[in-house]
Amino acid sequence: MTCTCGYSFAKAMLRRLKANKKGPPFKSYALIHNDDYRRVMKLDAKVLAAKTESTSSKYVGTAMTCPKCARLTVLMPRTSRKVVYAREK
Ligand SMILES: [Zn+2]
Repeated sequence: MTCTCGYSFAKAMLRRLKANKKGPPFKSYALIHNDDYRRVMKLDAKVLAAKTESTSSKYVGTAMTCPKCARLTVLMPRTSRKVVYAREK
């Protein structure tokens, strides 16, 4: 995944892992649509109880802030469609 400015979130993560440092070098957030929230909580509870192989991952998107240009890159839940938002100046 690459930001519009060229910053590579994946390469930054790999550099971080090679340096044996924890966590991504950028801020990221889980994103869940309100209509799916209860379903995600129920699926996660089942996964934690090890009663099923189902995961809630398709209902959870990701929002990442670019440390270089401050744009917000969002991978939408269900579709993984990429949407980029720029900060107003
Ligand atoms: Zn950027």
